[in-house]
Amino acid sequence: MKSTILFDLHTHSISSGHGSNDTITDMVKVASSIGLKALGISEHGPATPCSATVSYFRNLSLACRSRFDVRLLYGVELNILDKYGNVDLSPDLLSELDYAIISFHLPTCKPMSLEDNTLGYINAMSHKNVRFIGHMDDGRYPIDYEHVLEVAKCKYIFPEINNASLAPDAYRTNGYENSLKILTICKKLELPVLLSSDSHGKSQIGNVQYILPLLKTTDFPEHLILNYREDFLNQL
Ligand SMILES: [Zn+2]
Ligand SMILES: [Zn+2]
Repeated sequence: MKSTILFDLHTHSISSGHGSNDTITDMVKVASSIGLKALGISEHGPATPCSATVSYFRNLSLACRSRFDVRLLYGVELNILDKYGNVDLSPDLLSELDYAIISFHLPTCKPMSLEDNTLGYINAMSHKNVRFIGHMDDGRYPIDYEHVLEVAKCKYIFPEINNASLAPDAYRTNGYENSLKILTICKKLELPVLLSSDSHGKSQIGNVQYILPLLKTTDFPEHLILNYREDFLNQL
């Protein structure tokens, strides 16, 4: 299994309002130095306290698309707000972004029942430009993995395997067991996954070190890892 990836699409700059003071410039320099072909900036949606505003997302259409030989993509990590799958950016703004990740976060949606968390993910998949499911490994939000992943496959949406959920200091729970579960189901369904650092700032960009052992344990097929396929970037 290759230890390097071609792109990292789940990262946050200073504009997410917590975790780091690093700018996109700081981050893209690191991405370039480690040989990434593309870097995706996915700030938290506006419902996250102190995160990027609607105006920030609107102006991304004017942002540079390439720096230091790295392609820049601009997305969002949307907050799923309820079981109906409501999220915190409007359809017109979502349609202008390169992609959206849908995630649950404690400040914007308290954990619900297994049935309602599952519904939240499934309903949120219907929004424009949703391409990835964020850290569905989080044990604080129990879900029906088989059901969510079967629907994702039908909608051409991919789950991420989140390196930060697997780090020794992870604040999400049961990341290891749940990531194994996700990989096992995805292998069975032939559903590709996205490997993500979820780096806040530049320090973890491209880091998938805690994911690699799980790929080995599950004997996960390389062709189902989006980050090894440069051609996938053409679809964003
Ligand atoms: Zn998140
Ligand atoms: Zn994130």
